[in-house]
Amino acid sequence: TVSRLQPFTSTIFAEMSALAASTGSINLGQGFPDTDGPPAMLAAAQQAIADGVNQYPPGPGIAELRQAIAGQRAAEYRQPFDPDSEVLVTVGATEAIAAAMLGLVESGDEVIALEPFYDSYAAVIAMAGARLVPVRLRPDSSGRFALDPDELAAAVTDRTTVILLNTPHNPTGTVLTAQELEAVAALAISRDLLVVTDEVYEYLTFDAAAHLPIGTLPGMAERTVSISSAGKSFNVTGWKIGWACGPAPLIGAVRAAKQFLTFVGGAPFQPAVALALRDELDWVRGMAKGLQSKRDRLCSGLRDAGFEVTVPQGTYFAVAGIDRLAAPGEDGAAFCRSMPERCGVVAVPQQVFYADAGPDGPGARYIRFAFCKRDQVIDEATDRLASAD
Ligand code: GLN
Repeated sequence: TVSRLQPFTSTIFAEMSALAASTGSINLGQGFPDTDGPPAMLAAAQQAIADGVNQYPPGPGIAELRQAIAGQRAAEYRQPFDPDSEVLVTVGATEAIAAAMLGLVESGDEVIALEPFYDSYAAVIAMAGARLVPVRLRPDSSGRFALDPDELAAAVTDRTTVILLNTPHNPTGTVLTAQELEAVAALAISRDLLVVTDEVYEYLTFDAAAHLPIGTLPGMAERTVSISSAGKSFNVTGWKIGWACGPAPLIGAVRAAKQFLTFVGGAPFQPAVALALRDELDWVRGMAKGLQSKRDRLCSGLRDAGFEVTVPQGTYFAVAGIDRLAAPGEDGAAFCRSMPERCGVVAVPQQVFYADAGPDGPGARYIRFAFCKRDQVIDEATDRLASAD
């Protein structure tokens, strides 16, 4: 492995899912749902295969899907995008993020990301030869992981070119507020920065929290690349259909990188996702409502088992503090590795989402659980946790 990728040789999700499989544990680690997406969407993909939609689609994605993405952004957020020059279909949000970094960031640049950060960010920033500068979300008095605008402003240097945002935020469950986003926008405008915003959990918000795309704030459309994916909204994480939207010059740069990463992807899934974006958003809203009760189910079960729980405002993850349960000196990574044997449940250590992933790092006393699972699975998991040794 080359030196710039040495810190990134295996992902925690692969490691923990393999552990769940080899021990027969309930997997609340890697985030993927255990029920299917809207039936009409599934049928459309099957029909597309039967109809011979099995060869390379056009480079930027099929027109029908780009139109559906532009239609969804316009309808949900009044965010206008030209489907031909301002929308790019990618192989999941993962590729959109990678292509954005490779296409928009010079080697030696600094990219600011909210910490804890989704694991692919550090790896693709390194692939671009750039430096990740973390700005930490910190628990406020209510336990919500909040953004401090002063800390963000202090992280900007003459080398900063991009702020890589993520809201709703994995792994903390924070949904950035209008105030927090306005502070990011003001800074981006005053320091002439681009914003790449990962919004894959755009529909998965709870209670009064609502997703506000930063690209809709004044002065932001021309400097924002907005990224999302069908995986989280339509329960098809394995389809790997994602997209990036933004002004033509920025999307052109992302496309320049994307075409040599994968060229294109997912021909028969593209018309199915187009159908879902047009016709199945009520299904998504219903699913998100169901997730809110799953969230409450998991959080109360975790509390009963002795964890300190931060109730997430969005995503399908909940962060739990292990202070009352861990052995002296045991960090989240060791705690997660021992869970399959102690109780047959798998979670993900929060510390892997921090630049300092060590046992004394800022995430070492937290672990992350996914709740995009059937109720009986959540109940069985929390029962097992409650009766762990
Ligand atoms: N996004 C999912 C998570 O955070 C899993 C992604 C992956 O396996 N790379 O759990």
